[in-house]
Amino acid sequence: MGSRVCRISAHSISDAWFQVVRAALEVGSDYPITRGSFVGHQRRELESLVLAIEAPGTRPFSPVLPRGMPPVADDESIQKHFEEYWLSPDKAEDEEYTHGERIHPQLEPLIKMLRETPDTNQACIEVGRPEDIFLENPPCLRLIDYKLRSGILSAHAYFRSWDIWVGLPADLGGLQLLNEFISSEVGCQPGPLFVYSKGAHLYDYQWKMASQYAGYSLKDGSGSPRSLRRWGMARERRCGLLVMRGPMFSKKTFRLIEELSGRTEYAGQKVQAFKPARDTRSGEGTITAHSGASFPAWKVSSSREILELVKDDTDMVGIDEAQFFDDELPQVCRELMKEREVIVAGLNLDFRAEPFGPMPQILALATDVVVLKAICVICGKDADYSQRMIDGKPARRDDPTILIGGSERYEARCRNCYVEPC
Ligand SMILES: [Zn+2]
Repeated sequence: MGSRVCRISAHSISDAWFQVVRAALEVGSDYPITRGSFVGHQRRELESLVLAIEAPGTRPFSPVLPRGMPPVADDESIQKHFEEYWLSPDKAEDEEYTHGERIHPQLEPLIKMLRETPDTNQACIEVGRPEDIFLENPPCLRLIDYKLRSGILSAHAYFRSWDIWVGLPADLGGLQLLNEFISSEVGCQPGPLFVYSKGAHLYDYQWKMASQYAGYSLKDGSGSPRSLRRWGMARERRCGLLVMRGPMFSKKTFRLIEELSGRTEYAGQKVQAFKPARDTRSGEGTITAHSGASFPAWKVSSSREILELVKDDTDMVGIDEAQFFDDELPQVCRELMKEREVIVAGLNLDFRAEPFGPMPQILALATDVVVLKAICVICGKDADYSQRMIDGKPARRDDPTILIGGSERYEARCRNCYVEPC
């Protein structure tokens, strides 16, 4: 467990549900459950989830699932649950607590406060209580804080732990219906919804359905290009080739390190990284970004060596400075991507603005491409070119590749400011 925050911006509640399911499958960590609900099962948990929903009033709240899959909720049951469990102060005999018995007494003073002092920062409803520490199954929702600005009421909630599959749509629907109720009483508009949870999770018996749903929706055309890779089941490896291309100073190595370290730290995957012997910037045994971030890496003098060094249980292979590799690298990537994910970072163009080394073939094989830009040193626009400078002037086409004496450096430049070497 590390310190990475999972930030999700969603349009509606059903969009939020879909994105959170997908993120949990993709980067969640697996834990055995030792206390609370479903002891003995595994849960896949998303650490530190920050969820922002722009238009939570969009109907339907409940996720639309493909035909043949059991629904997780419907708006009618969300409405009923809200009325009985969130708004009503009544509690059945067999219930340890309800949200309503705790929320209800605070509603009248909250509405009064928001009417009289709309810009207050004190409109906070506490759902959790100190005695919850003694409960077998204490409330997940602990706090709902409201902020009224320019006639729009936003809600900010904290969940200590959150069941994604069933709990999330019902809870978000409840929060939205409560905001709509308060807003109508105060005379304002219900606005965005912000939620923080330290652990949002899918139980193991939900993984199969969740994967099917994620896969279905992606085939349906939604989702980002990065996520179009086929989603595997719990322990099935994903395969593919992601290429991150861009000019010098476009943070290619930094992004590669971020991907690789994310997989080892948060997903518990086995990752191996490689760099060409020609890479002189990084230290021995690591790839290093300009920022100082680094990741352990094997230095190899030919791309064939990568195939010899990759272990059977490696889930992901990272390759930095791909442009410096020999012509066999595309074939090596084809071999590697049959059984695992491969991420390649490299310069697509050399200083003459011509395709660099094996990069054109690598890009042709890619299942995903991330186009990175630097900042033009002349005008500040997006830069796609690397200008080689010798003694302060743009290098000529036939200047020696390896310079002896004289000072050499590179500058990132945009199309307009780039000077084609003559
Ligand atoms: Zn420029």
